[in-house]
Amino acid sequence: MNKQAVQFSKKKRTMHRFQKIKMCKKCNRYSVLIDDNCPICGSDLIGIESLVKSIFKNRLFTESIWILILVSIGIVAAPTIATLYYSLISGLIFCLAYVILTTFFMKSEYNLQLKKLLRSDWTRIKEGIQFDSNLAKDDVQENQLAPAYEKLREVGDFIKNDEVKIRQIKILNSIILRSDMELELDRLVPSSYDRDFVFYALDVLKINRSLLTKKSIGYFIQFREEIIRDFGIEALISVASSALRMKLYILEFSEFIEEFLDYFPKERMLRLCSILNSNPDIKWGSLKDKTKRLVAMKYHYDPDFKQFVS
Ligand SMILES: [Zn+2]
Repeated sequence: MNKQAVQFSKKKRTMHRFQKIKMCKKCNRYSVLIDDNCPICGSDLIGIESLVKSIFKNRLFTESIWILILVSIGIVAAPTIATLYYSLISGLIFCLAYVILTTFFMKSEYNLQLKKLLRSDWTRIKEGIQFDSNLAKDDVQENQLAPAYEKLREVGDFIKNDEVKIRQIKILNSIILRSDMELELDRLVPSSYDRDFVFYALDVLKINRSLLTKKSIGYFIQFREEIIRDFGIEALISVASSALRMKLYILEFSEFIEEFLDYFPKERMLRLCSILNSNPDIKWGSLKDKTKRLVAMKYHYDPDFKQFVS
């Protein structure tokens, strides 16, 4: 199958995950997709925070009306002028106290209202996310890979299971990956061995090494036998040499890196040497000795390695 050339829209980042939840008031359905309009009726989707604010405002309005009614009854039912004044003054004090207390507890009341809504509507929110996920399935069937991936990317923020990850990976394996794309690797690492994931990870490493994380290196080490069987030793060499991107990874995976040192291209060896050299106080273990031996043997006459050959 020929890979598709597509363009992804930027992923919307929010401080909290719940801020992505939206609702169509007409269909009474929740969604976590980036679209601003309901795919069913076309109405504007309202964000959960705005929803909570409007519920909160309505509550304040109802409570204020009740206070006004009570104060009015007190005034109307007052038998003398003196009691009328008493009712008026106590009513004013009550209103003032209500305004002060509400302002003071506004934030905590709002958070309480938000938690209440998330709890009471959780089943409906889950149904909405499932609906979003089904929309992505329809997109795949219609060969609309970019919108399908964008939908699953949002769904994946809420449903973190292997099924949703693999569905995203399969789509990514059917499109031409480019370095200007907002690609992810860490978030897509599945819990068990998956051939499609390894295929994707190796493809991603070719265009953007910086996506390699501790979790993904750990995955390649955990399933190394299956990976060698399906992709050959080159797959592990590629990951081990990409792990040189951070000092922290070199320390953490020094044994794994040392195992494939003989196969590293010159440029990667230069990088390793410069990191080892500029951090003489760190205990690199046998990795440093093996690197030194290898450089002395293989790059002894290479001027690029001059400073590393003692
Ligand atoms: Zn709708």
